[in-house]
Amino acid sequence: MAVQRPRIGMYEVGRTLGEGRFAKVKLGKHKVTGASVAIKIIEKDSLQKVDKWVKREIACMKLIKHPHVVRVLEVLASKKNVYIILEYVEGGELYDKIVENGKLDENEARRYFQQLIHGVDYCHSRGVYHRDLKPENILLDAKDNIKISDFGLSALSQQRRDDGLFHTTCGTPSYVAPEVMDEKGYEGAPADLWSCGVILYVLLAGSLPFNGSSPSNLYQKMQKSVMDFPPDFPVGPRELIKRLLDPNPKCENEWFQVGCKATTKEDDLDVYFRKDYFMTECSRPVLMNAFDIISMLSRGLDLSGLFLEKDAWKKETKFTSVHPAEEILSKIEDFAVGLGYKVKILNFKMRIQSSKPGRKGYLSMATEVMEVAPSLFMVDMHKTSGDTLEFRDFHQQLSRGLKDIVWKSEEELTGRS
Ligand code: ATP
Ligand code: MG
Repeated sequence: MAVQRPRIGMYEVGRTLGEGRFAKVKLGKHKVTGASVAIKIIEKDSLQKVDKWVKREIACMKLIKHPHVVRVLEVLASKKNVYIILEYVEGGELYDKIVENGKLDENEARRYFQQLIHGVDYCHSRGVYHRDLKPENILLDAKDNIKISDFGLSALSQQRRDDGLFHTTCGTPSYVAPEVMDEKGYEGAPADLWSCGVILYVLLAGSLPFNGSSPSNLYQKMQKSVMDFPPDFPVGPRELIKRLLDPNPKCENEWFQVGCKATTKEDDLDVYFRKDYFMTECSRPVLMNAFDIISMLSRGLDLSGLFLEKDAWKKETKFTSVHPAEEILSKIEDFAVGLGYKVKILNFKMRIQSSKPGRKGYLSMATEVMEVAPSLFMVDMHKTSGDTLEFRDFHQQLSRGLKDIVWKSEEELTGRS
């Protein structure tokens, strides 16, 4: 008779992948798809009270999707344990690579470091901080790319006080910023960048930048940023490391930029308007036929028409209005221009573009007004480039700005919804 493997949710539990200070990590296999996952098992007793804030943090972790950050797939719980189901990363720890091969070649270190910074920067933009970055938490996938593990997990073992700063000391002394060791409280972002500086040093030197005869001696050296570079340490990144191990770090550094993919260039509004899409002039919005409407409804479009909160994470939004198409467009235009966006309108189509590049280049949106029925228009707006969160912010502001022209269902007007 086949022996039944222990199961957690839909996952069969396999061998232990590793063990840290707070958790055991086991290999898991999805019962149906056979996909491998890593299951991080944390005893509830070792956690501080799982309050609302921690739950919020877990919800944020699930939204983190970046090629260089380990995905949190699910969080399950039993009476005794919390199980964090993670993307399985098969290439082992970056730490082992340094232990086995010693320091890395400059180009290899730069590639890892660029990936590390991109992952860290992405999480910070989503309000998630690591606070325990170290080579053990940096895993390598099958293609030798970095996957940062444990992002946001430190939230489980520490608390933010009323001043918004983190207070419980966590992290690993040599990689932890002096302000983390301080009792004063610290902000997540500078602390993580400090750790990135230490990691870059370790990758290039094969040893730690700060060494102390005692913890207090180590702390003093870190506070004063007293460190030496070995004679064969490459010159290019020294300045960057000094800046990262400085209270106000910035990453606009020549050494860092080498081999980095350029961010999206501004896409020219005029070029866009030259496309066939806009070739023929027309005097009224496109009229949607019954088939278009039914197919949209079947994809979940609710014609009661408000910008829905559930749309907030999507790259597209739709709403309906009984105001004339020209008025809808000019209201959106006034609003977008007021926020400093550039706007072009032609044939009931509109292109809106930010005047400054954002996190993923210029935020650009295409909007079209279509006629659903006589005097009922549907406005479709979707992101064509740029960052989804920036789109979400724009969309949220717009939904407030256009309150008067967005069609409200009777239920909403009578306050029943
Ligand atoms: P700490 O307790 O300070 O966090 P740690 O990071 O080494 O130390 P864990 O995060 O519990 O401890 O992880 C233990 C080990 O499990 C890791 O070092 C790694 O080798 C392995 N591991 C963790 N996450 C994954 C994953 N997603 N895929 C594959 N292996 C993993
Ligand atoms: Mg870890």
